[in-house]
Amino acid sequence: MDLKRIILLGAPGSGKGTQARFIEEDFDLEHISVGEILREEMRNSTVTGLKIADAMNKGQLISDDVIEEIMANKLSTLDAYLLDGFPRTLEQAKMLEELLESRSQEIDIVVYLAVSREEVVRRISGRRFCAECGALFHIIANPPKQEDICDVCSKELSIREDDNEETANKRMDVYLELTAPLIDFYKQKSKLLEIDGNNDIDIITKNIKDALAK
Ligand code: AMP
Repeated sequence: MDLKRIILLGAPGSGKGTQARFIEEDFDLEHISVGEILREEMRNSTVTGLKIADAMNKGQLISDDVIEEIMANKLSTLDAYLLDGFPRTLEQAKMLEELLESRSQEIDIVVYLAVSREEVVRRISGRRFCAECGALFHIIANPPKQEDICDVCSKELSIREDDNEETANKRMDVYLELTAPLIDFYKQKSKLLEIDGNNDIDIITKNIKDALAK
């Protein structure tokens, strides 16, 4: 199947960002990480960035209005993409459906990475990233060759402000309440591909690629 529009769905720390990097290469899709767009707004201290900083750092969701405006702009010129972190509420999912319908397009598949709460908290607490090139690491599951140094560009690695145990638990609660209903939403549309996200990174990648190749 010629896959043009894929959604990556899963709890925070389920591996969406990590897997997105492998999928985008194989399917030549633009990787759109909503969290990354929002963090960029905060780094640049834009009006939106200042408005969302508090909620982001507490692990709450940003309001649907703000997200929908950003995404409508972002998707307006794109045909093929991999959505990472959007939609995250039923309202956002319905907005996306309408947007695509108006263009006679549709989502081809929703890859749902299923992980347990313990795994989410363990992963989020050990997560590191490179502010220079965006590379992602984990101190146990995917450690850099040299402690706290990026393998790609040799810069010192950073920890996201919202990557701590307390916020991880909060983000999991938010996910279960607001985002998990999307699993049924896409299941009913026969779009859902469930992958066990508790495995090692390379096993998950292989399982996703094998399933998408079918
Ligand atoms: P992520 O990088 O995907 O883990 O997202 C980090 C944070 O960005 C989340 O905890 C939310 O505060 C915010 N965020 C990302 N995507 C969305 C979305 N679709 N709707 C609302 N808030 C979002």
